[in-house]
Amino acid sequence: MNLSRRDPVCGMTVQPGGMFTADHEGTSFSFCSEPCRRTFAENPRRFALNAAAALGAQDPMSRRIAYFSMEVGVESKLPTYSGGLGILAGDTLKSFADLALPVVGVSLLYSKGYFTQKLDEHGNQSEEPTTWSRDEFVRPLPATVTVPIEGRSVIVQAWIYPVRGIKGHVLPLILLDTSLEANAPRDRELTASLYGGDERYRLSQEVILGIGGVRMLRALGYKAVERFHMNEGHAALLTLELLREQRRPPGSGWDLPAVREQCVFTTHTPVPAGHDQFSYGLVKEVLGDSIPIDELQQIGGEDKLNMTLLALNLSHYVNGVAKRHGEVSQEMFPGYSIDSITNGVHSLTWTCDSFRKLFNKHIPGWSKDPFGLRYAISIPNEEIWQAHTVAKARLIAEVNRRNGPRFREDLFTLGFARRTAKYKRHDLIFENPEELRRIAREVGPIQLIFAGKAHPHDNPGRDVIKATFDAIRMLQEDVKITWLENYDMALGRLLTSGVDVWLNTPLRPLEASGTSGMKAAHNGVPSLSILDGWWVEGHVEGVTGWSIGPAAAGSLTQAEVNIEDARDLYLKLSTKVLPTFYKRQKEWVDIMRFSIAFNASFFNTHRMAEQYAANAYL
Ligand SMILES: *Cc1c(COP(=O)(O)O)cnc(C)c1O
Repeated sequence: MNLSRRDPVCGMTVQPGGMFTADHEGTSFSFCSEPCRRTFAENPRRFALNAAAALGAQDPMSRRIAYFSMEVGVESKLPTYSGGLGILAGDTLKSFADLALPVVGVSLLYSKGYFTQKLDEHGNQSEEPTTWSRDEFVRPLPATVTVPIEGRSVIVQAWIYPVRGIKGHVLPLILLDTSLEANAPRDRELTASLYGGDERYRLSQEVILGIGGVRMLRALGYKAVERFHMNEGHAALLTLELLREQRRPPGSGWDLPAVREQCVFTTHTPVPAGHDQFSYGLVKEVLGDSIPIDELQQIGGEDKLNMTLLALNLSHYVNGVAKRHGEVSQEMFPGYSIDSITNGVHSLTWTCDSFRKLFNKHIPGWSKDPFGLRYAISIPNEEIWQAHTVAKARLIAEVNRRNGPRFREDLFTLGFARRTAKYKRHDLIFENPEELRRIAREVGPIQLIFAGKAHPHDNPGRDVIKATFDAIRMLQEDVKITWLENYDMALGRLLTSGVDVWLNTPLRPLEASGTSGMKAAHNGVPSLSILDGWWVEGHVEGVTGWSIGPAAAGSLTQAEVNIEDARDLYLKLSTKVLPTFYKRQKEWVDIMRFSIAFNASFFNTHRMAEQYAANAYL
């Protein structure tokens, strides 16, 4: 399938590379005539989207794998993501599209997104609904289905977001939506907010995703799907719809092996509290009598419906998202066999313009086949440094534009951006402010850039932002520190490419994988990180970056662990990182190059997609 075969304005079949052509965002379009070409040029985005959506909706019977996720981050301004889980899903679908794998994606379309973050001068977060226009991103599809919610039949409609692969293949991402006139006002709100509302709201959304998702696929003609991939437990109700589809005679029970054969489950969190659980009272209220609760208890947990357990029981292949996370998950669920496939990022998406140019020059084809980034080993140091200088200048200009002109391009800059969950320890570097001050004064100047959103209900997470604002004030004479509002994909790209070192200080073993450090590696930015998640695999001391603290969790209390980790962080900064940055430039750029060659070449979603194909789908 190729975009260039049809005139995107009139739909006529045309020869690629004919007389009338135009390029839009890397795709080349051909036209039957000059008037069509001119019409396209007036609004290329609209016509390119129309053409891609039409192509993506074609031939549903060719799709063999359905990938379900509560959130998907494909574009910064399409607000269907909150953080790492969604961006991973988006990056994964992009690699599937690049590799032309026969996949269809399923998620929800959130009319108000996650939220737009506003911060006052003390770091108090307020949330505003995200406003955005559907026309710019999605096109409606001609099907509706219903799902039972609290005894009502809620109508679900679908939109398509065409995920355009690098060689013109289009992967359909189906986005479900209940905001129809025909639904009661409160049912229209069910797809308004990502991770908003209470348990009942969340369960209703999971009914729409899991049960509504399978029904919608069928209604749209996706009848040859052989694998249903649940990206996290939110999608696990799809198993109930697959069981229901069996239509076995009453009393004969469910054919669990038949569903297991179809399902694949990826778990993303090593904390039991991170797994969705719903009381059976609530399940009964929301789902009504459509599901026999006593049978459900046997596969979803005795006391509560545990979505992780349901997914584990009905999948033939289960994986964690990094080696260490696979082991931790295996210990948590000893009765199941849990493999691991380490996460990645979509190389082209997360490589900044100056490094794209550099890779295009030295490693042609790298974005089609990111294993090629291994050959970064032979890119000359001056060119790497030059590409970094460009990326850094862009970041510093944006920081100064937003928050006042204090940051400098020539000073060592650390970046730290992630959800402000407590375990991510944004504040670890402030454990001993005097020591940080001393290092900045005596060893070398430090600039520090933060970003991140707190979930609206996460009070400890909200406090993290305020505490950082206090530290900014307290240290302002000696360390330049700033916080950039409203962390999103665009800001993530700017930060992971523009800083000198990417800092990551989660509490072990709670970081399942982490992906922002992989984005940094694609831009030659080394990590300074706790040995957890992906860094256990990506870290070679002094070669691809630096570790903080010991490899294992040990038996210290959390307060003691914080002190120990902070002490090691200060030691690494003052004896290794800063002296190398300020005094040993060649050694520094070698580390940048090894970050690309060893880590970007492996921690990408192309490698990951191929592993899912080999281990989970085939
Ligand atoms: C990459 C990214 C994340 C995930 O980063 P982690 O390192 O996994 O925490 C979250 N939010 C945004 C906006 C990102 O770009």
